[in-house]
Amino acid sequence: MNPFDLFASVSRSPYAHARAEKKNDGKKRIGYFCSYAPEELVHAAGAIPFRLFGARRDIRAADAHLQSYCCSLVRGGLEDALQKELDFLDGAVFPHTCDSIQRLSDIWRLNAGFPIHFDVVMPVKLNTSSARQYMIDVLAKFRKDLEESLQVSISDDAIVESIRLYNRIRDRLEKLYLIRSGNPESLPPSAMNMVMKSAMIMDRAVFLEALEQLLETLSNTKAQSGGSKRKRILISGGICNHPDIYDVLAEAGGDVVWDDLCTGYRYAGGRIDESADPIEAIADRYLTRMACPAKHLSNTARGEHLLEAVREQKIEGVVFLLLKFCDPHAFDYPYLKQFLDDKGIPNILVEVEEQPAPEGQLRTRFETFVDML
Ligand code: SF4
Ligand code: SF4
Repeated sequence: MNPFDLFASVSRSPYAHARAEKKNDGKKRIGYFCSYAPEELVHAAGAIPFRLFGARRDIRAADAHLQSYCCSLVRGGLEDALQKELDFLDGAVFPHTCDSIQRLSDIWRLNAGFPIHFDVVMPVKLNTSSARQYMIDVLAKFRKDLEESLQVSISDDAIVESIRLYNRIRDRLEKLYLIRSGNPESLPPSAMNMVMKSAMIMDRAVFLEALEQLLETLSNTKAQSGGSKRKRILISGGICNHPDIYDVLAEAGGDVVWDDLCTGYRYAGGRIDESADPIEAIADRYLTRMACPAKHLSNTARGEHLLEAVREQKIEGVVFLLLKFCDPHAFDYPYLKQFLDDKGIPNILVEVEEQPAPEGQLRTRFETFVDML
């Protein structure tokens, strides 16, 4: 299977892929919902971190445990667990981020029926004098918890090896982002969504191999590709589990050439020092990469980061993609919008639930927005 078809298939059927992969490699799968889950440590313990995206149409069992005003990521993830669709998972890790994830952790531990469960209580403010030591202590505790629960010993060398693998993956992902931004015709509009989703699902070494193959193919075919007439769009928010949104936008004349999503470019951002103490180096990445709205760096850090991406990637319009009932992103939206408005950068807010708004409705909104650019 060529790498692009592989990523399309993995992102369409993540659970089936994980089941088949586990049958072959026998490795444990640890689920997670948030990019603050310390994947490198899970990987160094010999397990595969598996990102849960939680999009489902019919939420029933989860509603007995969660208020209907919880975001669909949390409700959908719990529903899948209660419906036993996550039978390939051995456990899950819950970083201390938004309220919904924190509450889900308790409900999951009591009801989802997995033997392995971790809470990683990271600091909220990332720039105080004590934040670094606090983060290091939390990561060191997580390492110990992993060793006990998975009955393994995690050496420093194993962590450094995982760090190297993740650094290579993040380098290649960044390269792919830059290729697509430089030449949007080189890959279909929803391609980055599929690649990023696969990056959080597949065995990471296998993913890296396929990603490098894709980059090689692109470097051979780049010269044949033409320019794009579509408007350059940046999509900003938490998660995007809807590849259709990219296609509908493209049909309306826009193309997502960059993003500020935690399941997108934010996942690829930040490198880990391979020569430093591995736990300290992982902590430093969390402290210095762009924060999500559930963490705090400064009152303007996210706005400045967004403006920088808009300028560097020659963005013509920004789509804020807000998962319904996602408080952290909803609280940040007015100030981020103001940042863009002040610089005259057109932007639009699109609210989605498990499924995006009907295609026709979305298309009309995107067409109006793109016409405006
Ligand atoms: S937006 Fe932040 S808290 Fe929410 S899932 Fe992403 S990284 Fe985690
Ligand atoms: S940050 Fe938003 S989308 Fe992510 S889990 Fe929390 S409420 Fe849900």
